[in-house]
Amino acid sequence: MPKQNTVNSDPELRRDAVTCPFCSLLCDDLETVTRGPQISVSANACPKARKAFAAATPVGSPLVDGKPVTLEQALNAAKRILKHARQPLFSGLATDVDGVRASLALAERCGAIVDHLHGASMAHGIRVLQSRGQTMTTLAEVRNRADVVVLLGADINEDFHRFAEICLTPAESLSPERLAARQIFHLGPRAQRPRQAGLNCQPIACTADELPNFLGGLRALLRGRQHGLTGRGAKALAALAEALKSAAYAVFVWAPGQLPPAHAEHLIGSAGELIAELNQHSRAAGLALGGNEGGQTALATAAWTAGYPLQFSYAGETIDYDPLRYQTARLLAEDSVDALLWISTFSAQVPPANTLPCIVIGNAASALTRPGSVYLPVGTPGIDHTGQLMRTDSVVSLPLQKLRDTGALSTAQMLAALAATLD
Ligand code: SF4
Repeated sequence: MPKQNTVNSDPELRRDAVTCPFCSLLCDDLETVTRGPQISVSANACPKARKAFAAATPVGSPLVDGKPVTLEQALNAAKRILKHARQPLFSGLATDVDGVRASLALAERCGAIVDHLHGASMAHGIRVLQSRGQTMTTLAEVRNRADVVVLLGADINEDFHRFAEICLTPAESLSPERLAARQIFHLGPRAQRPRQAGLNCQPIACTADELPNFLGGLRALLRGRQHGLTGRGAKALAALAEALKSAAYAVFVWAPGQLPPAHAEHLIGSAGELIAELNQHSRAAGLALGGNEGGQTALATAAWTAGYPLQFSYAGETIDYDPLRYQTARLLAEDSVDALLWISTFSAQVPPANTLPCIVIGNAASALTRPGSVYLPVGTPGIDHTGQLMRTDSVVSLPLQKLRDTGALSTAQMLAALAATLD
């Protein structure tokens, strides 16, 4: 049985080049100080990261029905839930590459359905990619090549906060001329406008629900056609159209999880068509900011392991991929599953409301204490153990350091221990 919970006694450990696991930008230049179990960031972190590192308290005891038990007792209780389940759902999946791999292996063994806590919002972009294709780019390309950047209903004030510093207004670029000439536009609600100091952004105000109309208006302008928009918004849109006509490399940035769900797929699809039109005469691409809580990692690991990007079922003889049917919220609302295994290791993410027998594999903030629950405590990747995460542009995986030694198990280790009880 693996051992847990011993705190290192080093008075102070300083590290640099630390990768931050708290949003999918995965900034890898943080400097941290570890004192006992406490971690603080001394350089290069955004407010969200500072708060998240400070809040990462060591995990406590395993729980069954909210009562502390030994790890062996908790694993046995979890085993009973999985053995009695006719259709389990493995969701959350907020973990690192090894954690997702181990989740998929156990899900296959249990005939489970798998989804991620951001599965529904990530699916918008995937459906567009599958049906029409997309020209996408990377953080490095935005930083070094883009001369027009359009934030399309994207809010980079909390999540993706350092996107401005790293990609939009970097201190250095491989193309200083492009950087000097760069024009940045924000199309969307006023409250979303970037507030980062030194970022000169031209606003085009519209509500979230007006985004499809404004994007349609922009496409009409670029084709030299009329549109029905009037007022200041129309003027600002005309300025954006002119900038795009003379751009050498335009990039549209959206965050699928921040777009109105009713319009998200349509908006991403329209942006992709606009990008395709621009590519007939110059160069343009899209960049999706998303996949926090290990979402991009879960997508990539599922795709290379099972051949499908999440929201599939291992219940049948072959894998059944159905992103509409196998959404966590729908499965719970329709009583289509009879047990839930939920993984959350980065922030406080408890499972959606349900009364099912529930196993939570999670950090201290994700502990579940209700009757019928089993809590298996694990560490946070990049704090309690090493690991790997995929970045938002899905072109690189970043290594994570271990910053403290609390003896907490990783998700992969906990799942291996749980799998062993099923032998
Ligand atoms: S922008 Fe994201 S990855 Fe970078 S420091 Fe902030 S939370 Fe961490």
